[in-house]
Amino acid sequence: MPSFPRPLPEVAGDAAPYWQALAAGRIELPRCGACGKWIFYPRSFCPSCLSRDVAWHAVAPRGRVYTCSVVRKPTNPWFFGRTPYVYAIVELENGVRLPTQIVACDPEKVEIGDVVDAVFERVDDTVTLLHFKPR
Ligand SMILES: [Zn+2]
Repeated sequence: MPSFPRPLPEVAGDAAPYWQALAAGRIELPRCGACGKWIFYPRSFCPSCLSRDVAWHAVAPRGRVYTCSVVRKPTNPWFFGRTPYVYAIVELENGVRLPTQIVACDPEKVEIGDVVDAVFERVDDTVTLLHFKPR
């Protein structure tokens, strides 16, 4: 079977600190200093009040499954042979919802509301992906 490149994020721009924190084993997210709202996806301004008073803060590496689906057909050639897997939206304790995968589990047993802990998958020197596993 031919090999295909893994689809990976570009570590650049407003989201670079997010990826750099993951590489260090932490989840950091921007928060607005004016209105206090968390910002995701990362931006250089607050989408709620348009303030540019944005700073990065570490958040707890855990949350709950907000919604999920078992992916059975690869959405990219790299995923051939890697299905089924659980695509999910995880809600962190601060209310931010992240797209992710639930790993290290039976995909058929993941349920909305499950408590999950972060798993940092180091892909290379630049990219570390954030997944979660059931507690
Ligand atoms: Zn704001």
